[in-house]
Amino acid sequence: MKRFAVLYDEKLKEYDLGHVLKADRYQNFMDHFQSKLGDHPDFEIVSPPYATHHDLRLVHTPAYIQRMERCESRDPLDTPLSPEFVRATKLLAGAGKLAGELVQQERCEKAFVVGGGVQHASRSCEKGFGVFSDVGICAENLMQHFNLRRILIVDTDAHAGDGIYEIFCEDPRVLFISVHQDPRTLYPGTGFINQMGEGPGKGYSVNIPLLPGAGDKSYAYVMEEIVFPLGERFLPQMVLMVDGCDPHVTDQITQMGLSLAGIRQIGEKMGQLARTVCKGKLIDFVGSGYNDNPDTVSLGWLASISGVTGVRIDLQEPKMIPTHISPEPGLKETREVVDLLKQRLNPYWGYLGSP
Ligand SMILES: [Zn+2]
Repeated sequence: MKRFAVLYDEKLKEYDLGHVLKADRYQNFMDHFQSKLGDHPDFEIVSPPYATHHDLRLVHTPAYIQRMERCESRDPLDTPLSPEFVRATKLLAGAGKLAGELVQQERCEKAFVVGGGVQHASRSCEKGFGVFSDVGICAENLMQHFNLRRILIVDTDAHAGDGIYEIFCEDPRVLFISVHQDPRTLYPGTGFINQMGEGPGKGYSVNIPLLPGAGDKSYAYVMEEIVFPLGERFLPQMVLMVDGCDPHVTDQITQMGLSLAGIRQIGEKMGQLARTVCKGKLIDFVGSGYNDNPDTVSLGWLASISGVTGVRIDLQEPKMIPTHISPEPGLKETREVVDLLKQRLNPYWGYLGSP
């Protein structure tokens, strides 16, 4: 097997909700992938299996799985259910599980779950375009069947990962860090600094809300000041990333203002962290991005892959960064958030620097 596995099967086209999340993104991405990396000797496309009922039970309750099979949605506007869509969500869940196993067994160094990164679904609730938690199933499988004791999940999707938070908020084996647009301005409306986990998991969930338009420098600052130092202290045995293209400046439902270079820079930092702490073992779930032009979404996913792997890919920004976004928008506010967060984190992680 090659060094980097890209988990994808064309059956994923059933993951189509008919609104901002449409299936054309997957084939579009694979076309871009083939044109940029198709000849690269380190990449291999791997077709994932559907998750079994047993796999889904790693995270989800039996009653919930049954309700999904009956297509009874409680979030019918964002997450309408059909047999085809529910089937496709099992493909993503199967991809998440397989990605973890391939990397853990050192059959490859890194794996990419195309279309993955279900953030809002919890153990018993579908939400925000997601049904079965590919990220959660990946992590639970590694803990239950491979005896991993420390998994780091870093979620830089523009939306707060409220579902992932709910799944792991009491579990100190999972350090979950979510960097996202201020929830006062964006779905899902939670993900505030004071949500730091519950019970034995207190201190192992970190929510970092940033103002709209925060941009590349704010993300770089957060990675440098919070994500990297916590990662070095936690010493994860595996790094999971949830990202994609929805923090990009052209996104039509979020306002984070990242460039493709900014997305790549996050990937670079995460790749560096994984090399430092766990022999480079990393799984990247790339699925977000809401844009009339699917090319833009594909470029964002490629930017992440480029950053994480260190493989240079020539990526042209799809459109000029709007001039109303200054070079350092909101950096002052980001520093304030980071200082406040450090004060809250110090009791759990030791001194993280001078606020
Ligand atoms: Zn998102």
